[in-house]
Amino acid sequence: MYKSNNYKETSSTQGLSRDHTWQALCQQPIWDICVVGGGATGLGTALDAASRGFSVVLAEAEDFASGASSRSSKMLHGGVRYLQQLDFSLVKEALHERATVLANAPHVSRILPFVIPCENLAHAAFYGSGLKLYDLLAGQHNVGRSHYIPSKNISEQASALKASAHGIQYFDGLFDDARLAQSIARSARQRGAVLMNYCHAEMDGQTDDDTDLISLKRKDTSAQHTLRARCTIFATGAWSGERVAVARGSHIVLSDIGLASGVLVPKTPDGRVLYMLPWLGHTLIGTTDIGVSNPDYSDTAPQDDIDWLLRTASHALKKQLDASQITASFVGYRPLVRIPGSDKSSSQFSRAHLVERIGERTLRVVGGKWTTYRRMAQDALDAAIEHGILPKGKPCITDQLVLSPNPLLDNAWLTQGQWSDQELQKFVKSAVDDEAACSSEDILYRRLRTGFTDQSLTRALQPKVDQFLKTF
Ligand SMILES: Cc1cc2nc3c(=O)[nH]c(=O)nc-3n(C[C@H](O)[C@H](O)[C@H](O)COP(=O)(O)OP(=O)(O)OC[C@H]3O[C@@H](n4cnc5c(N)ncnc54)[C@H](O)[C@@H]3O)c2cc1C
Repeated sequence: MYKSNNYKETSSTQGLSRDHTWQALCQQPIWDICVVGGGATGLGTALDAASRGFSVVLAEAEDFASGASSRSSKMLHGGVRYLQQLDFSLVKEALHERATVLANAPHVSRILPFVIPCENLAHAAFYGSGLKLYDLLAGQHNVGRSHYIPSKNISEQASALKASAHGIQYFDGLFDDARLAQSIARSARQRGAVLMNYCHAEMDGQTDDDTDLISLKRKDTSAQHTLRARCTIFATGAWSGERVAVARGSHIVLSDIGLASGVLVPKTPDGRVLYMLPWLGHTLIGTTDIGVSNPDYSDTAPQDDIDWLLRTASHALKKQLDASQITASFVGYRPLVRIPGSDKSSSQFSRAHLVERIGERTLRVVGGKWTTYRRMAQDALDAAIEHGILPKGKPCITDQLVLSPNPLLDNAWLTQGQWSDQELQKFVKSAVDDEAACSSEDILYRRLRTGFTDQSLTRALQPKVDQFLKTF
């Protein structure tokens, strides 16, 4: 199996646009806000700040969304399973945000019907009533009413599923996480934010005149700069030290097995939840939830995780899956807010987010979900204003802000595998010029998405992409 997380043999470019970005970043004497981390949370924070009229710079140590934010299960959801934890306010907030993303980023998200296959009427009644509560919590933001469906309708929507007597249908959102990240970045840049990838940031003290000093180091050129910011917001996900518990989630991707709907298996033989989703012309199956000490993106999905996913999905399907059907696999590391002294397993940790002040002019925003990135950003900025770090009078507007698409790259997956050299060259150029991609990994995984759907296609495309990169 090709290593999706250890993609080292790539050539890179130092695109002109990145040099301009670096110059802009070095020239400004003082920034209102410096955001550290360019995943969903950091990019959302940069967009919120820029759209309120603050000057904002963001530094991402690797590529944008190269951490958890390109490795999620792609669901915009309130979290049906969090109902069991009775955390209704968390579910309600996420359902509101689900509707906001669907409205503001329709080019990379859509409503997806899900089915829950049920063995008997008692199960159908149990899940049916839980999902009625889910609908109720969504209120006016609901995207479709859950209802009972008989066996015949289940097989129409998910022909690969084993016949089951009863089912419940409900509705959630499906999205393309790395493309949404690019869309947020693009929207932030359009409002003046300066976003620099492959740039490590570290707090380097304070000045006497109320600014933080943040030292930046470019990975590609080793150039260094110390900038000054009135407020620093750390959005470093699983790299937030003691504050987070890190949980590994593995996914496998197969050629479409016959799913028009998503499938939720709410109780697998060992008590976990399993999702199967139609995604970019493939079937995505996930996920595991295993506590680990550190994120390690040089790792591929462990064989145990892959075996568990194959075995557990096969229980629900007409035909057993086998490893030869897998076209890609990947891991992601969830940054879960650590509850001190808790002996809970990571799957029981809350998906709530936390904004905390960690210095005179410094905040951290962590936890939450992709679905709630916008709310996390809003809370971080509001907290900076409430603490008096930033001036009052600039309210959040991102709930009404339609995100900016890049139709060329957003839609590239529709013809995946049939790209002419000319088309591929156009994609590479847009990825470099418009989205600050530096290497064939950046392009094939997080701009075009083939790395996460079809690793043998990715292997075939890589030499061409490397060749095109040399021409820019
Ligand atoms: C397996 C899995 C499945 C998931 N499924 C879903 C789902 O279906 N729906 C949903 O809503 N959510 C889901 N999530 C949760 C969601 O993906 C995360 O909550 C979200 O992506 C976290 O974003 P983040 O920006 O906080 O972290 P990250 O995306 O990890 O970003 C943090 C960034 O900070 C950078 N960084 C760290 N230190 C520094 C430094 N010193 N200087 C500069 N940069 C630095 C890192 O390089 C990284 O890019 C899932 C998560 C996982 C792992």
